[in-house]
Amino acid sequence: MSLPTSLAAGAGPESAARAVLAIHGGAGTLRRAAMSAEAEALYRKALSLILEDGARRLEAGENALEVVVEAVRQLEECELFNAGKGAVYTADERHELDASVMDGRDRRAGAVAGVTRLRNPVLAAREVMAHSGHVLMIGRAAEHFALGQGVEMVAPEWFGTPQRLQQLRHAQEAALGQVLDHDGQAAAGPLDEKTKFGTVGAVALDAHGHLAAATSTGGMTNKRPGRVGDSPIPGAGCYADDRSVAVSCTGTGESFIRAVAAHEVAALVRIGGLSLEDACRRVLFEELPQVGGDGGLIAVDRHGHVHLGFNTEGMYRGSVRPGQAPFVGIYANE
Ligand code: ASP
Repeated sequence: MSLPTSLAAGAGPESAARAVLAIHGGAGTLRRAAMSAEAEALYRKALSLILEDGARRLEAGENALEVVVEAVRQLEECELFNAGKGAVYTADERHELDASVMDGRDRRAGAVAGVTRLRNPVLAAREVMAHSGHVLMIGRAAEHFALGQGVEMVAPEWFGTPQRLQQLRHAQEAALGQVLDHDGQAAAGPLDEKTKFGTVGAVALDAHGHLAAATSTGGMTNKRPGRVGDSPIPGAGCYADDRSVAVSCTGTGESFIRAVAAHEVAALVRIGGLSLEDACRRVLFEELPQVGGDGGLIAVDRHGHVHLGFNTEGMYRGSVRPGQAPFVGIYANE
């Protein structure tokens, strides 16, 4: 089992010095040997560019919510990851997307589930939070609401890629059931696409001392139509509370829901008095395994500590502080 990567925050009394953004693009099993340097470089470059943009935004004083929403929107636009464009297929060859956002200032949250035509589900989740009076909206009605708020619609086919379709075919032919992310024969990422969780997410502490989190996913290849995982569930796949932490998860959604994984980290920090690292490790290595949970999470606490952890072999991940070069990792021990 691999150890999670942990980064300590730079010391400094000012919130501005502690501002930080972390992102993930899914966790899974390594296929390092089969990986070309070019493919690995693609993933690293995509993550670096998004982090650099986020660092500039934090430096300019943007609030954490804006920064995480924009980081996740960019991850959704990137076909390498299973969210937005490049999302996986359901068993009946469609895409059903889930996303959520949470603002640590007042614990307002917004989410959409099972949407099929919203180009950037994370933008719809933000609109649900800001303008619907609700927390979670689903399907056609969520799309209709988001459209009214100016969120861009696309044809349902827009999300698909030939690689994702091949992945579905493979899962169905091999009778694999519900598969966590892409088919390894169909894509050449550094993580084994048969066992990778491709959800994307971001967490941030801004220069004003506020926390936020956002998560977005296409779910799992060959999932039943109507299945919803942890990603749009506040407390499960996404959580933010200025009193403690912001967390975004990736992994076997059903297990993360049962473990209430993101909130469990927050509770262990706020009520249990654990350090961020100890809380994350406990959830990843003690709580989640009890309910069959494989995957990872990224978290930042109100002091600016960051933890990028996983109980799989690797996770696409990175973090950055304004004015510093981003850290990007895929494998354990990076
Ligand atoms: N957690 C996501 C889900 O269950 C899958 C993932 O992380 O890739 O929908």
